[in-house]
Parts: sequence; C-alpha cells; structure tokens
Amino acid sequence: MAAYQIPCTGCCDCLPCPAEVPIPEVFAVYNRFLAGEDEEAVRAYAGIENAAGACIRCSRCEKACPAGIGISAMMFEIREEMEDA
Ligand code: SF4
Ligand code: SF4
Repeated sequence: MAAYQIPCTGCCDCLPCPAEVPIPEVFAVYNRFLAGEDEEAVRAYAGIENAAGACIRCSRCEKACPAGIGISAMMFEIREEMEDA
C-alpha cells in the first residue's frame, strides 16, 4: 500500500451517513485507484450509489472516525478526481 493512501480500516464507525454515502467503500475504491488499479477502480466507483459527490459536508462522520480522517475534505477531492475528470 502506498504511504499516501487513505488510512481507513473499514470499521464503519462513521456510518450511517445522512446522505447515504458508503464511506468505507468509497475509500477502498479510491485507494485502489491510488494504487494504480485505474480501470478497475473507475469501473467500481461508477457502480457506487451515493458516491463522494453526494456528500453534504455535514462532518458527522468525522466525529466518529477513530482514524481521524478528514472525511468531508477527502470526499471533495475524490469527487474532483473520480467524477469531474
Ligand atoms: S460529511 Fe459527507 S460523508 Fe460524512 S456523514 Fe456528512 S454527508 Fe456523509
Ligand atoms: S470510521 Fe474512519 S476508519 Fe472507520 S470506516 Fe469510517 S472512514 Fe474508515
């Protein structure tokens, strides 16, 4: 795993998200993208309902994340990279 990948453990403490973003799934797919699995990751991302673009930046998830991930900022970045490309 590359050092810059999102340190999400998949614990799901951040769920449920009011916008129904499947946060750990979005991060897992984005980590695959960062690892160079571009085509597979783009395909998997397209299959996610309520992906990063659905985030309303409420920050609810961030208070619950034991890894201290800046989730809403990451969702913004992921949307830019995966949806607006
Ligand atoms: S900040 Fe975004 S991802 Fe986190 S709970 Fe709110 S809507 Fe969901
Ligand atoms: S709470 Fe944090 S570490 Fe756990 S699944 Fe959500 S984003 Fe990943």
